[in-house]
Amino acid sequence: MHSEFTAFVAWPPRDRHRLMLAAHELGHVVAWQHAGFAVAEIKLHPGNVGGEVSLSKSSRTNLRTIEQRRGYLVGLLAGTEAGARWCELAGEFRGDHASGCAWDHRAFMRNQRHFGLTHIPKSEFRREARAIIRAHWRQIFRLAPTLAHRGLIAV
Ligand SMILES: [Zn+2]
Repeated sequence: MHSEFTAFVAWPPRDRHRLMLAAHELGHVVAWQHAGFAVAEIKLHPGNVGGEVSLSKSSRTNLRTIEQRRGYLVGLLAGTEAGARWCELAGEFRGDHASGCAWDHRAFMRNQRHFGLTHIPKSEFRREARAIIRAHWRQIFRLAPTLAHRGLIAV
């Protein structure tokens, strides 16, 4: 386990799982902000079943250029990458981080087709997502307990 996670060792497993779900949602957030989208709200659903990130109305309609579309797709994969990194550093079982990922990957494939970007391999988007998660890790680590605790962050 990475030393910065020792503060969470005493947390009940349910709450530690919620932290990981928070990191997942924050992964979407940092990647979409990195791509220039405005995030309106970050939410964790009750019962530890995942959460969602809402983009502002203008950002949702701002998917015209290739860069914006790529950035949106990278953001869809960034939740899984952030959750995986959290599990890895916290020494949590990675298999626990399945909820939400299946939905994200379906959304990725649907949008990739819709945007006409199927010629770019998924591994390329994933690599980009991973790099963004690494670069913005402090922000994710700092905000995860707040999101886990409150269940909602309005930006
Ligand atoms: Zn997600």
